Amino acid sequence: MITLEKVVKTYDVGDGLTILKGLDLQVDAGEFTAILGASGSGKSTMLHIMGLIHAATSGKVVINGVDTSSMDDMERSRFRGRTLGFVFQSFHLIPHLTVMENVELPLFYQQVPQKERRARAMVCLEQVKMTHRWDHLPNQLSGGECQRTAIARSLISDTPILFADEPTGNLDVKTGEQIFKLLVDLHGEGKTMVVITHDEEMAKRMNRRVRISDGMIIEDHS
Ligand code: ADP
Ligand code: MG
Repeated sequence: MITLEKVVKTYDVGDGLTILKGLDLQVDAGEFTAILGASGSGKSTMLHIMGLIHAATSGKVVINGVDTSSMDDMERSRFRGRTLGFVFQSFHLIPHLTVMENVELPLFYQQVPQKERRARAMVCLEQVKMTHRWDHLPNQLSGGECQRTAIARSLISDTPILFADEPTGNLDVKTGEQIFKLLVDLHGEGKTMVVITHDEEMAKRMNRRVRISDGMIIEDHS
């Protein structure tokens, strides 16, 4: 379902800083994969490239049989919207939009009419148990509620793939566990998921663990 082939990522600093050095990875439909590794090892860089947020410097990224390598930013972003959802450690909600408006936003960009947007956002808010907060602003929410909202936003396009970059990293243990359970449920409903985590115990509850060190995969256990 997702294939990375010889993916290289070089950042344009100094003489060039190469973070990913020819990385290969294949993720099959239905997998629930944990990405582990020390801070700075390249986990987020890899997930951003798999998630079509950033382009690789070289190498191939094939998603659902489509080679995205030669797409321009616009094509990549359109394909991303149809194919995958992304959840971030720091939520990335728009502060001046309500919970409902944040969740609707991807459909707004897809020019879905307002009535349908509302109806679909409501279904997603139900799924994450946030309907009672639909008209609140992000700064009126707890961290866990922010992440539920962000997950609802990632669900609204009904994509087969969900990526999450340390989704419980900014939450206390109990709230983190609730958010993780939500991800487990989403996997159970059929989503293919790749989740970066620092938490080895959480990683053990996923069905595959990929460990990155210095931009290379050093361990891959199913
Ligand atoms: P991780 O998520 O594993 O902590 P990252 O993928 O965020 O690691 O970062 C890997 C390395 O790439 C780090 O050394 C980081 O400083 C560097 N890096 C990340 N983004 C950029 C950027 N935009 N420009 C330059 N260096 C970057
Ligand atoms: Mg990171």
